Amino acid sequence: MLEIFSPEQELQNSLFVRKGVRVFVKRDDMIHPFISGNKWRKLKYIIDKADKEGKKHLVTFGGVWSNHLLATACACAQAGFKATGIVRGEDINTDTLLLCRLFGMKLIFTDRTSYRDKQELFKTICSDDPYAMFVDEGGNSPEAAKGCAELINELNIHYNHLVCAAGTGATASGLLKGIVDNGLTTCLHVIPVLKGADFISHTIKGYVPCTDNLYLHKDYHFGGYAKTETVLLSFIASFAAQTGILLDPVYTGKMMYGLFDMIDTGVFKEGDSVLALHTGGLFGLLGMKERLSDVLKCARLSL
Ligand SMILES: *Cc1c(COP(=O)(O)O)cnc(C)c1O
Repeated sequence: MLEIFSPEQELQNSLFVRKGVRVFVKRDDMIHPFISGNKWRKLKYIIDKADKEGKKHLVTFGGVWSNHLLATACACAQAGFKATGIVRGEDINTDTLLLCRLFGMKLIFTDRTSYRDKQELFKTICSDDPYAMFVDEGGNSPEAAKGCAELINELNIHYNHLVCAAGTGATASGLLKGIVDNGLTTCLHVIPVLKGADFISHTIKGYVPCTDNLYLHKDYHFGGYAKTETVLLSFIASFAAQTGILLDPVYTGKMMYGLFDMIDTGVFKEGDSVLALHTGGLFGLLGMKERLSDVLKCARLSL
């Protein structure tokens, strides 16, 4: 894949001044518009593996707003691979799925029950294609963790803390692996975006034996995966207007909201530097257009 651009950008805010912390954002959202953020890092070695094994067709899984499906569709088009997306739920045409189709991905819709057994679906659908390769939901795999670990080698300064959102936890696993492998003392703060995310510490332990530097913050899920609240959408709107950086309501919005709250409640010490990872995936915003418009209308009325 191509060279990437993902700068570390410092944010200015009176809260940070008051608490004596410096806050930076690692702009992985700038890596690519569609193979965005952690999905680029995850797919890098997945595509590599497919190449090495002579596979030419990635088959993967996701919901109707899945950033992973979109990233896979685009990456496959780039690599000259076929792509199939097995989609949980009914055939509806979201912005994300439209883009998947534009990149040539074949979409197969399946009900929630059969969606649970992904290996079985793969076997049924691809039994006659020797070039097909199974890629788990969200790209979750050792290759994904390896790609995400590389982020740590790119950092320009030493940060006391690194903060990221977690769905499957593969990205967090990779980051912690990078921290441990480099012998750094950086603390990794993980914000799960779904409710009941105890499995994430198990996932991470599966990839990294030493989890001394790991902190899970489980209270920023806003009701669960893809659930939201007006305060979260208002936060995303004011953050965008103050920084020029967009966040999505499913992942990075919850992560950044959590980070601001953690700074406010004194989780970090004076003098600490904190790096928030922008994992990209901005099309999630388009899944909440109506609610966002309502929030913006209310904000205008209250000015
Ligand atoms: C997929 C995704 C995540 C979750 O990554 P995991 O490795 O599954 O934890 C986080 N942020 C964004 C924007 C994503 O698209």
